[in-house]
Amino acid sequence: MSTVSDYFGSKVFDDRVMRAKLSAEIYASLRKTIDEGKELDIGVANAVAEAMKNWAVENGATHFTHWFQPLTGITAEKHDSFITPSPDGSVIMEFSGKELIKGEPDASSFPSGGLRATFEARGYTAWDPTSYAFIKGKTLCIPTAFCSYGGHALDKKTPLLRSMEVLNKQALRILRLFGNDTAKRVVSSVGPEQEYFLITREMYEARPDLRFTGRTLFGAKPPKGQELDDHYFGVIKPGVAAFMEDLNNELWKLGILAKTEHNEVAPAQHELAPIYTTTNIATDHNQLTMEIMQKVAERHGLVCLLHEKPFAGVNGSGKHNNWSIATDEGQNLLSPGDTPYENAQFLLILCAVIKAVDDYQDLLRISVATAGNDHRLGANEAPPAVISIFLGDELNAVLEAIETDTPYQGTEKTLMKLGVDVLPKFSRDTTDRNRTSPFAFTGNKFEFRMLGSANSIACANIMLNSAVAESLRIYADRLEKADDFESALHEMIKKTIKDHKRIIFNGNGYDDAWITEATEKRGLLNYRTTADCLPHLLDEKNVKMLTSLGVFSEDELRSRRDIMLENYCKSVTIEANTMINMVHKRIAPAITRFTSDLAKQALDKKQLFPDLACSYEAELVTKLSALTDNITEKTDELQEAVLGLRDAEDIITESELIRDTVLPKMCELRIPCDQAELLTAKSYWPFPTYGDILFSVK
Ligand code: ADP
Ligand code: MG
Repeated sequence: MSTVSDYFGSKVFDDRVMRAKLSAEIYASLRKTIDEGKELDIGVANAVAEAMKNWAVENGATHFTHWFQPLTGITAEKHDSFITPSPDGSVIMEFSGKELIKGEPDASSFPSGGLRATFEARGYTAWDPTSYAFIKGKTLCIPTAFCSYGGHALDKKTPLLRSMEVLNKQALRILRLFGNDTAKRVVSSVGPEQEYFLITREMYEARPDLRFTGRTLFGAKPPKGQELDDHYFGVIKPGVAAFMEDLNNELWKLGILAKTEHNEVAPAQHELAPIYTTTNIATDHNQLTMEIMQKVAERHGLVCLLHEKPFAGVNGSGKHNNWSIATDEGQNLLSPGDTPYENAQFLLILCAVIKAVDDYQDLLRISVATAGNDHRLGANEAPPAVISIFLGDELNAVLEAIETDTPYQGTEKTLMKLGVDVLPKFSRDTTDRNRTSPFAFTGNKFEFRMLGSANSIACANIMLNSAVAESLRIYADRLEKADDFESALHEMIKKTIKDHKRIIFNGNGYDDAWITEATEKRGLLNYRTTADCLPHLLDEKNVKMLTSLGVFSEDELRSRRDIMLENYCKSVTIEANTMINMVHKRIAPAITRFTSDLAKQALDKKQLFPDLACSYEAELVTKLSALTDNITEKTDELQEAVLGLRDAEDIITESELIRDTVLPKMCELRIPCDQAELLTAKSYWPFPTYGDILFSVK
């Protein structure tokens, strides 16, 4: 029997394969491209393509595709086979360096937000050699960036790579100031913890709302939900365990470091966390993980729900983005060090993050904004829509001591002087336990917890990398000019703490009192919905920062705002139409059938026993008839709200109508439907209930 180490990465054209299949010269040249971004010449590309094709064909591949991440949020691929006809009627398998480096998918159907008129449909994909090619099914997948012919990014990878580059550049400037002349690169790494639900295919197929929208639009609270907390870290059911085993195998073959898995708080909810890796690769891997989860679930007669809020009243699913920055020499810049100099450097980097998160709260909120995620943020299960940073008591005390020039009350009472004192060692346990903070320091990394389970992690990391790069740029500009490095450093750290301490909050983020304090006393932003936050992507300060760093052009930002708002409007409109459809086709007829049967039964009884009151039937019929009338009325109102969208002259107005009219009407319609569900006999109700679905997997 083969062991994991035998097949780990067996479907990846990784460094081991490259070394084995490429000549030393070609390998060295490719490595330079991967590690240092050196341009690749066509001769090298041809040799790599040939080796890649031979390896892929040996491993059963017949096709290749440029695999990319358009702004739809999922990944896209268009398969071409390797075959080329020979004059003698046979075929040979061919793949050139040109085909490896550049592809031209007909891209007219991918959203471009006006960046590319549909008549000039062509965009092109360009090989990203920093993320390894892999085989999926019978196809060699080549990770690529996707751009328009005008050079505008039409995907999530391009700006992510740009943001990593600017962070690298600014962080290196800081390292040099601290005397580090050896580090060649600074790279951000991410470990995304992925939550998801597993239900049986049978339940899924029976619910039009799940099939069309990924979430349930109706459903009364089941008698047993998550109140016993008996699912969290509970024993994994055999059906789920079999799924997880199969999933791990598939992920491992693709070189994805799937590491931990456990049950989550809600019934049927689980989590998978990989070991962290370079942000670009972590992003590709997370997209692949979500895809493979769904495929593997299918093999097991299950469906994997990645929607942020598949069930009302039950915890939704998020994705914790564990983020850190480290040098190519392995120094984690978020790890307090052993020497005074490392400590001062750590505090400066920490301040850069604090400043970045405070200055660009809106960008972080925008980076996780979707219709699905709006249901979670602030719903007492996920962090609120207000962004704050949790540092823990120890680190907080250090910052306070610096700010006020008072002795730090650590183990020994010492006056902190940067560049002289060694920081106390922070025990990981004391920093890791605040689960309610949207942005928590957890010992040697930050955990950004606002991401929705279906989000690509690209957007959050683009904003995070860029905002931190901007803080570092400002710091480096000042420090490079300073006469006295140490006092300039001290002053800057002090000033950052003073100016930005409002963003630090170590209490309970789920508390209503916090939201009041945050918004009223501290002036922090509270953008509750996607419609509220997205227009701010184009606020002057945001455009200035992102364009001056070269992460986005203004056109790209405008197009992204429009595409994200369109996605928001489209997904809610689909939900509203699905609700209307389900009421007309299923719910109303079911209730009517039940009430008329009840009435007939009462009539039968009365014929035999004229003295009977039949109050059970009478009351139920009365209640359900009243509910049906209410349902009809609310459905008409929702229909009207949807029709009202036609009058919106632009996407911002439309998104506001969605927020202010369509979504509230959907909530209003749901109430009588869920009440009716509770009163209707099980055999009449047209779909499985929450109880059926949530406990469906054995
Ligand atoms: P938990 O948050 O459940 O306590 P861990 O903190 O051990 O679990 O890990 C959560 C995720 O953080 C994992 O994906 C892990 O690989 C990742 N992680 C750990 N260290 C770092 C780091 N320095 N940079 C980025 N991610 C990290
Ligand atoms: Mg965690």
